[in-house]
Amino acid sequence: MKKLFTVLVFSTLLLAACSNHSNSTDVSENDTQQQSDKSRKDQNVQKKHEKVIKNGCTYIDNILIVNKEVSLPSNFNPGENPESQQALQKMFNQAHKENLNLYKISGFRNYQTQVQLYNQYATRDGKKAADKYSARPGNSEHQTGLTYDVGAVGSDKNLYKSFGDTKEGKWIAKNAHKFGFIVRYPKGKEKITGYQYEPWHLRYLGKQTATKVYDSDQALEEYVGLK
Ligand SMILES: [Zn+2]
Repeated sequence: MKKLFTVLVFSTLLLAACSNHSNSTDVSENDTQQQSDKSRKDQNVQKKHEKVIKNGCTYIDNILIVNKEVSLPSNFNPGENPESQQALQKMFNQAHKENLNLYKISGFRNYQTQVQLYNQYATRDGKKAADKYSARPGNSEHQTGLTYDVGAVGSDKNLYKSFGDTKEGKWIAKNAHKFGFIVRYPKGKEKITGYQYEPWHLRYLGKQTATKVYDSDQALEEYVGLK
């Protein structure tokens, strides 16, 4: 559905561009044409995304973007974000009230740590395999300080896809956005995100944006118009 919409918007852009060159012809259709041009323009305004690059970091609609194509500079070293840390704790507290014991497996990782991790994985499994589950240095979302891998205390499903089938994994899928997080690499979006399904990898966006992304059923790349 969303894809169809994007296609429509894109093709109207093409149409709008064409109509500028054919002013002298379609006179009879002029009124209708102007009308639909206006509504097309309104749609385009709504779908427009603002991209800003600041000190080597890419922000789209004020969301810091890190993925396989968009990287962070090696000196970007913000540490753990206090707001997301607090939100994570709130989420754990709520889960605890519902008899689910979640904990943080990992959070902020600096560039150098990612260099070591990636090299270790690539040596063990080869680069091609490592790229499916690990980020190259500069391309890890953990370097933002806004990202966490979470697990269930004592579970043997932690950091496996099957974590998504546990009651803790299901609870996260359903509730994380209420605390400002999204499951960053959803099932079925592997080709868009470039990562396998990771029901444990959460990215903090704030409640409002996380809820919008959750409701959109899109991966973050789609939501900000990258894919
Ligand atoms: Zn992760």
